[in-house]
Amino acid sequence: MRKIRIVLFHSFLFVLFTILTQIGGIVWLICIPLLNYIKKYVLHKIQRWIAYLLGPLLIYLIVTFSLIPLLASLWGRVPLPINHGSLRPLTLMTVLLNRHYVRKELRNVVLETSEQMTAKFPGTVVHYLDAGFPFIHGFPLLPHLSHNDGEKLDLAFFYTDVLTKQPVNDSPSPIGYGICEEPTSNEENTAAYCTSKGYRQYSLLQRVMPQGNKKNYLFDSRRTKAIILLLVQNRRIGKLFIEPHLKKRMNLMKYDKIRFHGCQAVRHDDHIHIQLP
Ligand SMILES: [Zn+2]
Repeated sequence: MRKIRIVLFHSFLFVLFTILTQIGGIVWLICIPLLNYIKKYVLHKIQRWIAYLLGPLLIYLIVTFSLIPLLASLWGRVPLPINHGSLRPLTLMTVLLNRHYVRKELRNVVLETSEQMTAKFPGTVVHYLDAGFPFIHGFPLLPHLSHNDGEKLDLAFFYTDVLTKQPVNDSPSPIGYGICEEPTSNEENTAAYCTSKGYRQYSLLQRVMPQGNKKNYLFDSRRTKAIILLLVQNRRIGKLFIEPHLKKRMNLMKYDKIRFHGCQAVRHDDHIHIQLP
């Protein structure tokens, strides 16, 4: 019975770490002999639990930063930069969870675009959100429906400080999702429509994300429109998703590449989704 419990415990963590990071499950399996070694030789209880925690974490970080970028190139994927002057992850968790891999072509597009943004708006940093995992075409990056081939990427909106009205580089949501630039009463409310049609997941992130920080920021339509224009005018970008009311508000109706993603997805008035084809 005890053996079954141990197998179930390791299986649960394998699935959980695989869903979150793709490689975390395999790293956990590799670490099982290490955990057994710690159990046998580290006798002090607190030291043993510290070793349980730090041992696998250290191995995961070494694999994540040294081995995975090399192996990902075999699947035609490259990591997005971590500390580039004009392009960075909004949260380091994106990188730590290996969710920042894309095809080289997409990395080049977003790097060029971010540099153009910094040239046009000095001091501006473009923040990326979820991209894709390093390996296997079709491997899902939950909760996204389509981020499974290195050809999709989410970017954060731009904001200004509500008091100073000056552009800022941070975002009201710590993960870039879930704090929305909602439609006014005169605008098309796709979120309400999709929810009324039974698509309960459409505004799920907004419901779970604390909204307290929203009052400190204003949606920066000037810079957000500028980056959207740079992206849709780039022939390598195939589609861009934002919520229909923002497409209309920013006067972008003539751009066919800017599409509505459908009620089966989640709302896109908190971020920009781009994809190659
Ligand atoms: Zn997306």
